[in-house]
Amino acid sequence: MNFVSTRGKSKPVNFSTALKAGLAEDGGLHVPQTFPQFSLSDFKSKKILDISYNILEKFLAGDLITEKLHQILNDALSFPIPLTSISRNLNILELFHGPTAAFKDVGARFLAGCVDDSNDSMVLVATSGDTGGAVASAFNKKKRSKVFILFPEGKVSSFQQKQLTCWGKSVVALAVRGSFDDCQRIVKQAFEAKKLFKGSQLLSANSINIGRILPQTLYYAWASMKYLNDHGANPDFIVPTGNMGNGVAALWAKKMGFPIAKVILAFNANGAVEEYFQTGDWKPRPTVYTLANAMDVGKPSNMERLLHLYPDLKQLRQDVEAYSVKDSEIKNTIIALSKEGYVCCPHTACAIHVSKKLSRHHMIVASTAHPAKFKSVVEPLIGKEIPSPAHLKQIENSKESFEVINANLESLIEKVLKNAN
Ligand SMILES: *Cc1c(COP(=O)(O)O)cnc(C)c1O
Repeated sequence: MNFVSTRGKSKPVNFSTALKAGLAEDGGLHVPQTFPQFSLSDFKSKKILDISYNILEKFLAGDLITEKLHQILNDALSFPIPLTSISRNLNILELFHGPTAAFKDVGARFLAGCVDDSNDSMVLVATSGDTGGAVASAFNKKKRSKVFILFPEGKVSSFQQKQLTCWGKSVVALAVRGSFDDCQRIVKQAFEAKKLFKGSQLLSANSINIGRILPQTLYYAWASMKYLNDHGANPDFIVPTGNMGNGVAALWAKKMGFPIAKVILAFNANGAVEEYFQTGDWKPRPTVYTLANAMDVGKPSNMERLLHLYPDLKQLRQDVEAYSVKDSEIKNTIIALSKEGYVCCPHTACAIHVSKKLSRHHMIVASTAHPAKFKSVVEPLIGKEIPSPAHLKQIENSKESFEVINANLESLIEKVLKNAN
């Protein structure tokens, strides 16, 4: 099974090659050349690990990684993913029980598992807050990988900053004098100028990488089958999204034949995609800063994958909806839900707001982070303390170490060469 570029000008490549390359040769993003088709009767076991193996062995057919697939999945899915029902119409898929308490642990740990530890590699990641922590945690135990995290100076929460800067020598945290978009631009430039990095194997750990986004299809596949089995209906998924990695992953699961009705994308005040659904004009916008900061993206990179999957706007509107949610609505949702006895993070609140507005049957909200990661936003709203899970407490109590750089490629290269080995 091969992967092709969204721009259609690169040779098809297998999974390992796509994973190492990050971007396709023509600058596009890798997408599956075809989607294997599944039906419920293909799965004897209802366990997420078994289902995941059955799905991925099709995508990885002929790839050496298959030999390690059981182990890789064991590590990537080593924590619970509960599907809980809060009320008759509101079900929540809690994706935040991993080591850094955000859904990104699944993709980051899968990616790390795929990386061959017999060679040196240098992992580059731009983060608006959560990605960097998940990637650092996932790669921390790999002996021959060094992680460079670029985050916008002063624009991540104090907890997120801890989570980016607490790891010690194998993870170099760089606070960039600029925005998240600057961080993404510098990482992209680094990949275009690979040879300046003196032959080190560079690896991209953002959701442009197929190795991060493909494993995110697994929990949608599993949860949709479980829901159908328990309730006799295909659920809608409401996904809080910004760069649209998690949104596209849900659509890929639908495309494989899993019982998913609609995929509903919940954005924060960054409204470019909602506007595209209304007008058919794709106009990226400058980033708006919101309470749901991990979704503060003006120009989502995975839009390219969405448009590749749905070149026809009519077809897109049949399967997918997109809504943009204001900060005031995020706040009101957190308060209202807390009165019902459930505390959620600001990102999840975007999706819950949309679910309440639509008020349909059979909806599952993907919950992307533990609310304790966003105490400074959530606690004042609900008027009580949110206890941190044990593994987050450890991070809260750790020491920070990072360096500040200017928002250009030269500054990154200088730090990379200084910190290599
Ligand atoms: C990264 C992140 C998102 C958005 O993920 P996409 O890749 O843009 O879909 C949503 N919520 C949280 C908590 C995140 O960390």
